[in-house]
Amino acid sequence: MNNTRANSRTAMSASKFTLLCNSHKCRAKLSGFAWVTACCHVFCDQHGSEEFSRTPAICPACSSMLSGKLDVFRTELAPSEQFKAMVLVGLQPETVLEISHKALNFWTYQVNQERMLMEYNLSRAGGQVLQMEKYMIQQNQSKELELNALRGEIASLKKVLEEYKGKYNEVLERLNERNRQYQKLQGLLDSLRMHTLGTGEKDHISHPFTTGSVKQRSPHSSPSFLAPEGDRFFSLGPENAKAFFQFSTPTRDRAQSFIKKN
Ligand SMILES: [Zn+2]
Ligand SMILES: [Zn+2]
Repeated sequence: MNNTRANSRTAMSASKFTLLCNSHKCRAKLSGFAWVTACCHVFCDQHGSEEFSRTPAICPACSSMLSGKLDVFRTELAPSEQFKAMVLVGLQPETVLEISHKALNFWTYQVNQERMLMEYNLSRAGGQVLQMEKYMIQQNQSKELELNALRGEIASLKKVLEEYKGKYNEVLERLNERNRQYQKLQGLLDSLRMHTLGTGEKDHISHPFTTGSVKQRSPHSSPSFLAPEGDRFFSLGPENAKAFFQFSTPTRDRAQSFIKKN
C-alpha cells in the first residue's frame, strides 16, 4: 500500500517518472533496453522482441501498423556518457531541438497515459465502493425488516402463551373445585358407611346428596386427579357416581341398592 502510494507520488513528478511496459498484462518498470514505437508506446525488451519480430509489426497497445523502417526502435534507456556526448553532435540546432521536442512529446504522452489510467482505476474503485455501500444499505434494510417481523412473531407468541397460562389457571381452578367436591363426597360416603354399619338401619338415611351433612371428613387424602380423565370421573351424573361407588365401596350391595333408590 505504502509502495503504491510512493509510486504514484513518483509518477506525479515527471523527472522521476519511470516508464512502464505498455502491454496491459505486463506493466513492468522499464530499465536497460526498451522498444519504442512511432505511435508513442513503449514495451519491455521481452514483449517488444516477441511482438515486433513478426511482420507486419502491429502495436499491441493501439493496433497501429508499424511498417516503416524506423516505426519501432530498440533503445537504451540509460545510455552511456559517450553515446550522449556524440548522438546529436553535428546536427543543426533546429534538428537538435526537433528531436528533443519529439522525445519530450513521447514522455508527456506516457505520463498522461499513466495519469488517465490511474484516474480511471480510481473512479472505478469509487464506483465499486458506492455499489458496496448501496448493497450494504439494502442488506441492512432487509435485515431490519426481518428483525421487525420476528419481533412481531415473538409478541404474538407471547400473547398466545399468556392465553394458555390463563386457560391453565382456569382448568387448575376447576380441578381444585372437583377435588373439593370429591372430598365432600368422600366425607359423605364415610359418614353414611359408619352410620349404616353402626345402627343397622339402612332405611333411616334418606338422601345423603341433598342433606349435604358431613359428619366426618375422610382421614385419608384424596387421590391425585391431575389427569384429564378426572373431569369425566368426577362429573356428578348418576351413571358415573354409581360406577364410582361400585368401585370404591366394600359394602357394595348395600351402596348399590342405595344408589338405585335415586
Ligand atoms: Zn512487458
Ligand atoms: Zn501504439
